[in-house]
Amino acid sequence: MSEKPIAVLLIEDNADDAHEIRKMLGEGRGMPFAIECVDRLTTGLERLAAGGTDVVLLDLSGPDNHGLDALARIRAQAPHVPIIVLSSLDDEAVAVKAVREGAEDCLVKGQVDRNLLVRAIRYAIARKRTDDALRAAKDYAENLIDSSLDMIISVDVNRNIVEFNRAAEQVFGYTKAEVLGKPIDLLYADTSEGRQLHKNTQDGGFTGEVANKKKNGEIFYSYVSASVMRDATGAPVGVMGISRDITERKRAEEIIVRQAYHDALTNLANRRLFMDRLTQALTRVQWHKRLVSVLFLDLDHFKSINDALGHSVGDLLLQAVAERLTTCVRQGDTVARLGGDEFAIALADVARTSDIPKVAQKIIDTLSRPYVLEGRELFITTSIGVCIYPDDAQDAETLVKNADVAMYRAKKHGRNNYQHYSPDMNAQAFERLAIETSLRHALEREEFFLEYQPQVDIGTGRIIGYEALVRWRHPDLGVMPPGKFIPLAEESGLIVAIGEWVLRSACAQNRAWQTAGFPPIRVAVNVSPRQLRHESLLGAVGRALRETGLHPNWLELELTESIMQDADEAIRLLSQLQAIGVQIAIDDFGTGYSSLNHLKRYPIHKLKIDQSFVRDVTHDPHDRAIVTAIIALAHSLNLKAIAEGVETEEQLAYLRSLKCDEAQGYFLGRPMPAQNATKLLARVTA
Ligand code: C2E
Ligand code: MG
Ligand code: MG
Repeated sequence: MSEKPIAVLLIEDNADDAHEIRKMLGEGRGMPFAIECVDRLTTGLERLAAGGTDVVLLDLSGPDNHGLDALARIRAQAPHVPIIVLSSLDDEAVAVKAVREGAEDCLVKGQVDRNLLVRAIRYAIARKRTDDALRAAKDYAENLIDSSLDMIISVDVNRNIVEFNRAAEQVFGYTKAEVLGKPIDLLYADTSEGRQLHKNTQDGGFTGEVANKKKNGEIFYSYVSASVMRDATGAPVGVMGISRDITERKRAEEIIVRQAYHDALTNLANRRLFMDRLTQALTRVQWHKRLVSVLFLDLDHFKSINDALGHSVGDLLLQAVAERLTTCVRQGDTVARLGGDEFAIALADVARTSDIPKVAQKIIDTLSRPYVLEGRELFITTSIGVCIYPDDAQDAETLVKNADVAMYRAKKHGRNNYQHYSPDMNAQAFERLAIETSLRHALEREEFFLEYQPQVDIGTGRIIGYEALVRWRHPDLGVMPPGKFIPLAEESGLIVAIGEWVLRSACAQNRAWQTAGFPPIRVAVNVSPRQLRHESLLGAVGRALRETGLHPNWLELELTESIMQDADEAIRLLSQLQAIGVQIAIDDFGTGYSSLNHLKRYPIHKLKIDQSFVRDVTHDPHDRAIVTAIIALAHSLNLKAIAEGVETEEQLAYLRSLKCDEAQGYFLGRPMPAQNATKLLARVTA
């Protein structure tokens, strides 16, 4: 297969010389040439413009192409076509100039033979191709480097900068010219970190974060991937790093971390951070015989503020409290919001136990100053539990737990005070917590049931009613008397829902007895003070009656004397209940304080003499006097008197002699399940 001939353009005005060259190339074996000869540069340029030329042979002594200017024009016309200059003189200076101006070679006419010329042409073409390819590759690489969005920075073996692309210029604020040749340390926030990075790179490459410094001194973070650059022999010539400004990402990460460790509403530490800091504090003081204290705070009656004024005011108040709390402690201490209206403070380094009450008192005083929120003046107090390392607990978890227990004690002590933890608080708190947790589910799990205790007319001996008494069948602890859980239910507010259930169940049972044909009797239902305060009591009573179809006359509510603390309010409520038509008894009468003056204004029907007076009525003159007085009082106010806790025949006989109307107690019948109460009714009415 024959090769494509090499297209040679000969620019030569001397016809003899042209002929000579033509002859030389024409005789070539194995290397075919297609020669075109022109005698003027302008014609030659036209030919070049047409394309297809592989090499130019240029006589540098033509009529219109004096000197090296011709070279430049040819190169401008066809930059990729190699040029071999033919000169008439053996002038080294011309040859050097020609090559400098872009000629591939320079041959002296008369000294050229065929071999020399063919070799020169072949080399010129090959070299030109390589040069062009190299230049293209370099341009391409430079383009790539400069158009990269990532920063590309490289250094030589002395860690001086040799490459600094446009992205790097933009981020760092230096121009390439400013940094080329300078030590790379210039670009690091911490030069020792930079040196370490360099070392790690030499040990096999590095990827990771590094802190950089801009020209204006600003610190920023970049993510770098660096590797060693080597020459053809494998010897290192420097390090190249590709990096990206990750300041934004870092900032986002910081926000996420902040959210993970802080309470969004108050910006205080959250429980997680609090526990971390507390653990650190414990480690620190361990060897120094210093103390760490946890103060556990719960705002008093915060819920009522939230309920009354709305959550947005509640939130503002929490923020204001948080702010004040931080002013009460020192630098190294931690204030945290654990949730809701609960806060915790870790006093990280305390010298004496006696310092701690001062802080607690300062907090109480600071928080109790008035708050002005949305133009309204608000007050809040707090209860604080204190627990101290190493006396009260050895680890962070227990410190917080015990401080919580002590806080409950502070609540019990009338709130707005602090209490120091003591071990006996724990047992009570445990039981309480376990009960409170399961109490929340008891209603939906239908763990409550009622027992009924007969109330008897002392004159006739007939059952005139049953008192409904609630019990809780706790899944683990068995059946629990109301004394164990009603106070908890009152504190947590669960009493409202439980009370409504009791009302409905008792009314339904009484209605069922009537439907079954027993003579109508009354069912007495106990109502807690907390239920009274709640507006829904009236609604609940109305609903229970409506839903069960029980006539109001057969429902009696047992209220305690504590309702009389707010006389006007009590009268309002009792009148409304009376309007519905239900009966009202004052339970445990004699134990609370009743103003006789008020008593006569109350629309009530019955006084229930507390069992503590009944117990010793037969032999304690003091109790006897009280019981006598209560019965007389009831009758003078036109009320009935019922004695509870009647356990013996003697007690009953004595009460009868005092003209007490009714009685209730173990002697007459213990509280019993509905089934048994039904059987008892069947027996006595048969
Ligand atoms: P209470 O209303 O004064 O109920 C009488 C308590 O005395 C009942 O205790 C009853 O079992 C007990 N008892 C009755 N007869 C005798 C007796 O002869 N001797 C002795 N020693 N005790 C007798 P229980 O059932 O433990 O109830 C205790 C308290 O729990 C009740 O006192 C009442 O205040 C409250 N309670 C019970 N059920 C409910 C309820 O459904 N709602 C509310 N809010 N409180 C309830
Ligand atoms: Mg009662
Ligand atoms: Mg009672």
